[in-house]
Amino acid sequence: MKVKVVSKILESNERIAEENRRVFDINDVYAINLMSSPGAGKTTLLERTVELLKGEKGIGVIEGDIMGSDDAERLNRLGVPVVQINTGGACHLDANMINEVLDDLPLEQIDILFIENVGNLVCPAEFNVGENSKVMILAITEGDDKPLKYPLMFQQSGVLLLNKLDLAPYLSVDIEKIERHVTLLNKEIEIFKCSAKTGVGLDNWANWLNQRLA
Ligand code: MG
Ligand code: ZN
Repeated sequence: MKVKVVSKILESNERIAEENRRVFDINDVYAINLMSSPGAGKTTLLERTVELLKGEKGIGVIEGDIMGSDDAERLNRLGVPVVQINTGGACHLDANMINEVLDDLPLEQIDILFIENVGNLVCPAEFNVGENSKVMILAITEGDDKPLKYPLMFQQSGVLLLNKLDLAPYLSVDIEKIERHVTLLNKEIEIFKCSAKTGVGLDNWANWLNQRLA
């Protein structure tokens, strides 16, 4: 019985996700569902990405958080349209939440829409929101055991940003092991080692984004 309820929720989520995707397509918006655990650096990465692309591309952001608007304010300072969603307890964004805020964004001016999901390595990967790509961040501070412990997100994502590379000298984390395990889970995934703090490796990420829009 419980399984039935869950599959029904996912089914209706899928329908609304398709509707969102149609809206993105009509408006020529490339939507990215950005996922990671809390503190992996999603908002900092978005700040750096906006700085890299601003002026060349129209950027919009949807911020998902259980509560508060700190992240939205950070991005708003960079002069891009931002909408904050507070899930009020839910640990992921779903298609309906995104559907409800689409009218609040100037979609006709947006080339790339970043949807920063709630910090959580588990269920954000189960809910499509109509995105063109799922991108995840894993900070190397989280340890090299995460891919095999939380396989779904690694399997679902088209890009893995391996963040906080600047901290590597202070950690005993095995970065090659992370890459090996991620590639075992997902042969298609593109891995970019980077530091949102120092900017190292972000050129590869910006190139990837530019290729999506080309
Ligand atoms: Mg954040
Ligand atoms: Zn959840």
